[in-house]
Amino acid sequence: MSQPKSANITHQEACVTRVQREARLGQRGATVWLTGLSASGKSTVARLVDQALHQRGKHSCVLDGDNIRFGLNRDLGFSPEDRNENIRRIGEVAKLFAQTGTIALTAFISPYRGDRDRNRAINAEGDFIEVFLDCALDVCEKRDPRGLYAKARAGQIPEFTGVSAPYEAPKSPEIVLHTDREDEVGSAAQVVAYLEENGYLRAPSE
Ligand code: ADP
Repeated sequence: MSQPKSANITHQEACVTRVQREARLGQRGATVWLTGLSASGKSTVARLVDQALHQRGKHSCVLDGDNIRFGLNRDLGFSPEDRNENIRRIGEVAKLFAQTGTIALTAFISPYRGDRDRNRAINAEGDFIEVFLDCALDVCEKRDPRGLYAKARAGQIPEFTGVSAPYEAPKSPEIVLHTDREDEVGSAAQVVAYLEENGYLRAPSE
């Protein structure tokens, strides 16, 4: 749904501006959108980046696949429509975090290009950083940390991305991590380096 259901609603201006918040935090808010197959390393990288930023005195948070499905998105399943809605809500939540100056790291398969592009489109230029965890399916399947591929191959999980549901790779992500040929520390370091080099770890006017 792109239009709000109610007619008599207006946007309210914040009295503390985003720039003031960012100045206080010494950083720029953004959504760092990690996408890739199950077991490609999204949660691992998100946590390592979060930790690295925290150690540098920066403010970040992680929105992670399963956790969100216990709460905010507990009403959603894995049909294409529910996946669309899952990703839409997460994009909106990450945007709210970014507007408070937080670096919001999201770790969701988010297999549909259209869903990710829509989330990019609700953000201003530079507020949405797409990170593609490019990892061969056979490597993901060999890792299978939660045994999900085995279950999917046995027909116990319908619509499992990479097995019985599609994954659409990003066409021009800001960052590509080859998580099948580098270690997780190296992958996370590339994300932190991108944030550093592109001014996200400084206040806007610095
Ligand atoms: P996802 O969140 O994408 O489902 P996880 O982060 O839960 O994936 O699991 C990925 C697994 O792959 C972890 O066991 C992690 O240690 C391992 N791994 C190996 N190399 C990397 C890498 N470069 N980046 C991230 N994870 C990696």
